[in-house]
Amino acid sequence: MDEVKRVVAVDVGGTKVAAALVTLTDAGEPAIEHFGKAPTEAKLGGAHVLEVIVGQVERVLGEAGADGVCGIGVSTGGVVDPLTGDITYANDMMPGWGGTHLGAELEARFGLKARVMNDVHAHALGEARWGAGRGAESVFVCAVGTGIGGAFVERGHLLLGAHGAATNIGHVTCADARGIPCQCGAVGHVETIAAGPGILERYLELGGAKTDEKGAPVDGAYVSRAAEAGDAAAVAAEERSGRALGEVLGNMVNLFDPECVVLSGSVAKCGPVWHRALRAGWDGAVMPPQAHTPVRDGQLGDNAPLVGAAENLARSAYVGLE
Ligand SMILES: [Zn+2]
Repeated sequence: MDEVKRVVAVDVGGTKVAAALVTLTDAGEPAIEHFGKAPTEAKLGGAHVLEVIVGQVERVLGEAGADGVCGIGVSTGGVVDPLTGDITYANDMMPGWGGTHLGAELEARFGLKARVMNDVHAHALGEARWGAGRGAESVFVCAVGTGIGGAFVERGHLLLGAHGAATNIGHVTCADARGIPCQCGAVGHVETIAAGPGILERYLELGGAKTDEKGAPVDGAYVSRAAEAGDAAAVAAEERSGRALGEVLGNMVNLFDPECVVLSGSVAKCGPVWHRALRAGWDGAVMPPQAHTPVRDGQLGDNAPLVGAAENLARSAYVGLE
């Protein structure tokens, strides 16, 4: 990519739709301008969500002007066919969103090229190409928050798999999660103990405090602080999470041999107790040639999906779609 690429990027989440004009140039940082957002109001159905998205694209084009805009790049929850831009499946969080021909609808309305991708992929592509993985030829990105998502990016292309579900790192088993039912329907997956809700559940099982000093229900940040202060239940829950994720990440590094790993999401902001356990789990699983693979913190934060969606429009991240 030699020239400047100006893309209207949209990030469709369960609670809000964010959009901005993203400008990508080889030399500098991605520029994010005309950022704004609106409530998704997902319960009102897929047709309503589409109108919210259209409204945000109109807003950005109205503010920025359409001159030189090369298309619309979208990141969205749900399962996406990146070749057609269709939403092939969405869960109960977004009723009626599955079946939306999002790419075709946007192209018809705006006369611009549109490309749609899953939000885990968009986040990963943003970090791999323009964030913490920039310059690396292969990157494994793991985002750990309310769930655990993963993606492998090699030379700008995402590994998709037969169902678009490759590298679903939250849903592999690990020894310490044995017997715990996962929300996906299987048993013993790492997400049950390593993601935010899992940490909280394990903490409460061990007799941790249900409410904080002000009487509000405890959250992940509270458990992390309690662990750093030496609270035994919090230390155990944090260590269990970190160790399990480290073990699985080490296995992923054995499998994919990335040049670097990028770790992001709210749980990755936990304190040293969690990070030490992560390192211990990693050390126990990773093979000697890959043991020193760098693990970097994500750099783009909430902007990662917007940057990734823009990158996918500028230069397709999927083999077979150029
Ligand atoms: Zn699972």
